[in-house]
Amino acid sequence: MPDPWSEAVAAATARIAEWEALWPAFDGSPTLALPEERTSAILADLGERLRENSPFFHPSYAGQMLKPPHPIAAAAYAMAQRINPNNHALDGGPATAHLEIEVVRDLASMIGFDPLHSLGHLTSSGTIANLEALWVARESHPEKGILCSDAAHYTHQRMAHLLRMPVAVVGADPTGRMDLDALETGLAGGNIGTVVATAGTTATGAVDDIAAIVELASAKGVRVHVDAAYGGFFRLLAGADDDALRTDTAAAFRAIARADSVVIDPHKHGLQPYGCGSVLFRDPAVGRFYAHDSPYTYFTSSELHLGEISLECSRAGAAAAALWATLQAFPLRPDGLGAILRQTRHAAVTWASLLRDEPNARLIVDPELDIITFYLLPESGDWRTSAISALTQERFDRLMSTPRDPVYLATLRVPPAHLGDHDLEWDSDTLLAFRSVLMKPEHLDAVPALHDRVVRFTE
Ligand SMILES: *Cc1c(COP(=O)(O)O)cnc(C)c1O
Repeated sequence: MPDPWSEAVAAATARIAEWEALWPAFDGSPTLALPEERTSAILADLGERLRENSPFFHPSYAGQMLKPPHPIAAAAYAMAQRINPNNHALDGGPATAHLEIEVVRDLASMIGFDPLHSLGHLTSSGTIANLEALWVARESHPEKGILCSDAAHYTHQRMAHLLRMPVAVVGADPTGRMDLDALETGLAGGNIGTVVATAGTTATGAVDDIAAIVELASAKGVRVHVDAAYGGFFRLLAGADDDALRTDTAAAFRAIARADSVVIDPHKHGLQPYGCGSVLFRDPAVGRFYAHDSPYTYFTSSELHLGEISLECSRAGAAAAALWATLQAFPLRPDGLGAILRQTRHAAVTWASLLRDEPNARLIVDPELDIITFYLLPESGDWRTSAISALTQERFDRLMSTPRDPVYLATLRVPPAHLGDHDLEWDSDTLLAFRSVLMKPEHLDAVPALHDRVVRFTE
């Protein structure tokens, strides 16, 4: 029985076969020939090898930021991939370059940038997207550095090192947000050109107070970059009359409109296969930093080639096709893609409230998005952090390896500063806690059972 995924992919690629049939027939080279039995045998072997993965598709997998793309994205990707356009230059992928321009405008509108007077493009990842944003930060303020919080993704310090930019790291408060007093002190020195704020930290989903950060930074002529690689699409739930997010979280998302640049990963919450990040700049004039000429590729038109505003050269046009098709099915509206995120958010709120009622469990932060972090207290009453960490590790391993009903979570090392008012007996450098990313809408129904399995574990 073909499943909806295979049917969509087969139907999609058949459309490209029809297109290919419009050209004169030719004999394929024998050097490329592969007998059907070999194909099946190799794919059967691969199928075995791929069983090493955890079941990322299943609601019982509630660990890292992982899930399969939507079938419409897979079908659109397969369809365009059969052509294999390159979005570097219009010669290599005119159709998918136009699709990319459309989806980037949609992303710009979502976050409140002017879609026709801003600049942006897809990237192969959030890492590359952030690298471009930091590079523009450096070109904008060549003598200055960046400031980020210690809850920001580690990529910022690494990329700043690569760009030879100084980095000031300020602490996050116990809610995981950038400490604004520390930011003010950091800005007073005058060496900061760009503040890197995070809308949805990778560890806990904390959202920095972007309105306050923009306020403090702009008073000093300092730029603001927002890393919303994970959280960006939650902007869809941040309308003033929507109560899916906390009001402070929603206000922070609305303030991204006043930032200078933002990174959003469609391959995280945009239902896409890996290979789809994005970077957007509010001021299209930063395009001047990218200026270069390509002796090989920019022939076909005076229209902008995406390679002219991107540090990467070859990029999958299929990624733009997949995102475009997905946004036709699930537009960037509260009732489009937003309806999916509403479920994932609701799953986190539900699990957090179950944990709050549990005498032997503690939340680390009140979740702002759909990531929850917590730890269990040993029944022995031993509150040494080493004992709690050992319980986390033991429960984590056993939950995953039990043959009946396995549950897959992730773990997180939490420093004492992020557990300010938890009365624990610290005898280790960090506390090992549970982290669960509830990024599938099916997690909502699964949460009561997940909670029970984790808290009242029996083999
Ligand atoms: C995932 C993530 C990144 C890195 O993006 P990749 O797409 O994995 O390269 C950067 N910042 C944040 C906040 C993230 O969650």
